[in-house]
Amino acid sequence: KIKQIAIYGKGGIGKSTTTSNISAALVDAGFKVMQVGCDPKSDSTNTLRGGKYIPTILDTLREKNNVKLNEVVFEGFSGIYCVEAGGPAPGVGCAGRGIITAVQLLKQQRAFEELDLDYVIYDVLGDVVCGGFAVPVREGIAEHVFTVSSADFMAVYAANNLFKGIQKYSKSGGALLGGVIANSINAPYAKAIIDDFVKQTQTQVVEYVPRSVTVTQAELQGKTTIEAFPESEQASVYRRLAEKIANHTESKTPAPLEIQDLREWAAKWADELLAMETGEVRSQAAA
Ligand code: ADP
Ligand code: SF4
Ligand code: MG
Repeated sequence: KIKQIAIYGKGGIGKSTTTSNISAALVDAGFKVMQVGCDPKSDSTNTLRGGKYIPTILDTLREKNNVKLNEVVFEGFSGIYCVEAGGPAPGVGCAGRGIITAVQLLKQQRAFEELDLDYVIYDVLGDVVCGGFAVPVREGIAEHVFTVSSADFMAVYAANNLFKGIQKYSKSGGALLGGVIANSINAPYAKAIIDDFVKQTQTQVVEYVPRSVTVTQAELQGKTTIEAFPESEQASVYRRLAEKIANHTESKTPAPLEIQDLREWAAKWADELLAMETGEVRSQAAA
């Protein structure tokens, strides 16, 4: 049975990088995978295709009627099916409606059955403060949602907003939360912050992904880490993540924090980090 997954997170947090590495790891494991970029930036699948952009569904639909599958689905690394939903012309139309239109086209053309897919992974921008980007959650397009977050407050804030959206639509058949993909986690304090956040919101960390220059080197070659450096430590982290997502079955309704509680939570961490720093300075002075 086909499994549909949506990956959310704030802009620039590492959604496309992480999603593309998951797709690459899944095809390497023998699955049939489609990656659907749902960010108006339309660069989700670039590292699956040598750094190149593909025409988006919305652009193609604006140019002609009767769009065929092979005009919007492009082959990427190891046969991954790459799709970019695209966005409205800047200043015109709703990006969320655009996602609905794009997914409708794939369904009309029976893409999922024709291509005999095991996984469809949606790479979605947004902190779901608007209804538009909540579309994959709300419309039941995806069954499981994961969010990419670092330990930075803005990323955690966006994750918490996503949780609010998931909670809201959970009663009307919306997608539920699989967990948090903790990205750019190198320092012990970053891990502690994310661990505390998932505990507060009754979810879990699926995998800790370190910030690594290997990712940058691969990106500069227009490739995923899985493709460019399959033997690297970073590639094995992405493979482990992909395996966990593949085997994941039970998603849950998260318990987002109210904004006031989230601010207090952040203030508590600010104090804690300050205390850690002063502690270090003291022990250095003593030595
Ligand atoms: P998003 O899709 O969320 O907007 P991207 O996946 O495009 O973000 O990532 C933004 C930038 O951060 C890219 O240049 C990417 O290579 C880099 N990046 C993301 N994750 C990592 C990581 N774990 N290590 C190093 N660089 C990373
Ligand atoms: Fe953009 Fe969201 Fe408004 Fe749609 S609902 S136009 S996606 S801000
Ligand atoms: Mg992206």
